[in-house]
Amino acid sequence: MSASPAPIFAGRRVLITGASSGIGAAIGRRLAADGAAVMLAARRTDRLEALAAEITAAGGTAAIATVDIADRAAVQRLADETEARFGAIDVLVNNAGLMPLSPLAAGKVEEWERMVDVNLKGVLYGIAAVLPKMQAQGRGHVINVASVAAHKVFPGAAVYCATKFAVRALSEGLRMEAGPKIRTTVISPGTVATELADTITVPEVAAMIRRYQEIAIGPEAIADAVAYAMAQPATVDVNEIVIRPTAQDL
Ligand code: NDP
Repeated sequence: MSASPAPIFAGRRVLITGASSGIGAAIGRRLAADGAAVMLAARRTDRLEALAAEITAAGGTAAIATVDIADRAAVQRLADETEARFGAIDVLVNNAGLMPLSPLAAGKVEEWERMVDVNLKGVLYGIAAVLPKMQAQGRGHVINVASVAAHKVFPGAAVYCATKFAVRALSEGLRMEAGPKIRTTVISPGTVATELADTITVPEVAAMIRRYQEIAIGPEAIADAVAYAMAQPATVDVNEIVIRPTAQDL
């Protein structure tokens, strides 16, 4: 009888931001189940510990880091610790984000700043921390989770869309600049059933988003897309994937 083949991502070391819930947690579960060593980063340590315990109990490899990705020095430490723990970072999944939607006239400037700090600057800090390492090792893959809101603007979502359009723009710049051995993928989900809408502070907007969420797909669909992009040969770079619920018309 022949031995069963190694899991598809055996030996791959993946740093995932926003891994304490929703899409990031689903990505962590999926990649670990397929043999990757995953570093799970976010602020809620209890959630990260529970996910890492689940992955480890299933025979996978996971470590955790409590990090606010709006803190540039902390993101650099995260990348350094991941490298020290696993030996290298093969894939960075820039997934952490928040979506406190509101009309511009509501003047929620602190919420705008937080979205810029996490959704945009957090992604930049992640790239800054791993790009030199990936260039030095001659391989790497940066996967940025954007949104359908990176492709079109919605009323009440101007600042969120601005951050996600920016993530798409910088991903394209990274793709062109990073060199022939580093892959760049942008994944743009439509409505996914997660905790993302919990940061909305305008009741009417929260109610509208709850209605959209009736058709939401599970975060495993986004994890499947990450796995698809990672599973390609090193010479194949899946640049963009947009995934919506079939019933989503926006
Ligand atoms: P969740 O709210 O479930 O997850 C967001 C994750 O980001 C959490 O793990 C949260 O962890 C983390 N996070 C937020 N702020 C920070 C921070 N400052 N530092 C570190 N981690 C942070 O929502 P989703 O899973 O839906 O969101 C994941 C990504 O998917 C986001 O970028 C979002 O914009 C994008 N997206 C989601 C869609 C959806 O419909 N759900 C659609 C399109 C895109 P913690 O609070 O523990 O720090």
